Amino acid sequence: MDAGFVPTAPQVGRLIEELNKLPGIGPKTAQRLTYFLLRAPREQAQALVEAILAVKEKVGLCSVCQNVTEADPCLICRNNGRDHGIICVVEEPLDILALERSQSYKGLYHVLHGVISPMDGIGPEDLKTRELLARLKTGQTTEVILATNPNLEGEATAMYLQRLISPLGIKLTRLARGLPFGSALEYADEVTLARALEGRQGM
Ligand SMILES: [Zn+2]
Repeated sequence: MDAGFVPTAPQVGRLIEELNKLPGIGPKTAQRLTYFLLRAPREQAQALVEAILAVKEKVGLCSVCQNVTEADPCLICRNNGRDHGIICVVEEPLDILALERSQSYKGLYHVLHGVISPMDGIGPEDLKTRELLARLKTGQTTEVILATNPNLEGEATAMYLQRLISPLGIKLTRLARGLPFGSALEYADEVTLARALEGRQGM
């Protein structure tokens, strides 16, 4: 990759290369960001560097729900105003943000950190399924909502979890209505998500 090679300033090429490794940032955007930062005040660059390092140093996973958090357990798991009997299982932390925006869910969450995807070599053992099972075995849970995305991997993951959870005798539901197949929870609007939650169906 020499898209950003600048003979007189190798450091410019270095930054372009690093930015280019980020998701959704191609060589052109990496170049634009680099030249923006080159002209920006030193304080702005410093703030960006510090924010990145702070995330790496201070943010971890909640030992209960596996969501990203600075306090363990996270604020959602600690909130006694929420229904601790319901666990909504999602693929990624961003899905929690989407569901919280809908303001129609007051239970707890569990983040899998991925989906089963044989094409990418991702099996159930690569997800936070063991942690989920351990939570369910404490006997506090009355309902598990499987809120994986309505696409092939999301469905396969939901089916796997159904087989895993069914023997425990806990009510299982799946978000369905209103979410078009192949879409991602993360991008669904609040009203659609609220309806999908309200209209969840037993499995
Ligand atoms: Zn938590």
